[in-house]
Amino acid sequence: MLVSAIPAFNDNYIWAIQARVGAAAVIVDPGDAEPVLAWLAEQQVALAAILITHHHWDHTDGIAALLEAYPRQPIPVFGPDPAMAAPLTTPIACITDPLHDGQLFRLPELDNQWQVFATPGHTLDHLCFYTPGYLFCGDTLFSAGCGRMFEGTAEQFQQSLQSLAELPASTNVYCAHEYTEANLRFARAAEPENQAVLMHQRWVKHQRQQGLSSLPSQLGKELEINPFLRAQSAAEFARLRRWKDNF
Ligand SMILES: [Zn+2]
Repeated sequence: MLVSAIPAFNDNYIWAIQARVGAAAVIVDPGDAEPVLAWLAEQQVALAAILITHHHWDHTDGIAALLEAYPRQPIPVFGPDPAMAAPLTTPIACITDPLHDGQLFRLPELDNQWQVFATPGHTLDHLCFYTPGYLFCGDTLFSAGCGRMFEGTAEQFQQSLQSLAELPASTNVYCAHEYTEANLRFARAAEPENQAVLMHQRWVKHQRQQGLSSLPSQLGKELEINPFLRAQSAAEFARLRRWKDNF
């Protein structure tokens, strides 16, 4: 499987997944259609499907324009069941294939089976998608950090992260934002004795100076450097989250 990053806005990554070079792509969280259409044209590949992690605009606002660009072909849109959204949020329009916690599903043009993890915390409808070797985690898990807690509770968020922590350490982690440098500054403050954080900070600085992404990360690495994934209780998670919000 081939995964490409399509940068969008200031620091979003829209991920493009292909079975092989030249194959139709599954697009994860298209907050903006324009860079996706440009990428598809440049690669000369078709759009196979859209996969959505949660309802925020910077993950969903490109869906309609992408569907309009393929008027003769029904493009499936996999994502959260609108019923899972918080009462005051606008549910995602155009979801054709609502997904639920624990569900196994297949994506068009890809050869593997995927598993859904419901990960409430950042939003109530948030889903993560896993196939062996690959985790697409939206705004639930960032490298060295996690999303802001907009809708869920600390109990929910910590439990969501712990469910991801049980996946194999070699799993590549595809987050939706390039927040790693700022997250590592916080991780240094939270765990000043943690040498793995310091080492990773050096590597990420080098990557970013060359204009390269810090992602994907690896789950085993995150278990060493990510204070939120390392939090052993909801209370510890809540303390870290409050601290980071004002850091
Ligand atoms: Zn979000």
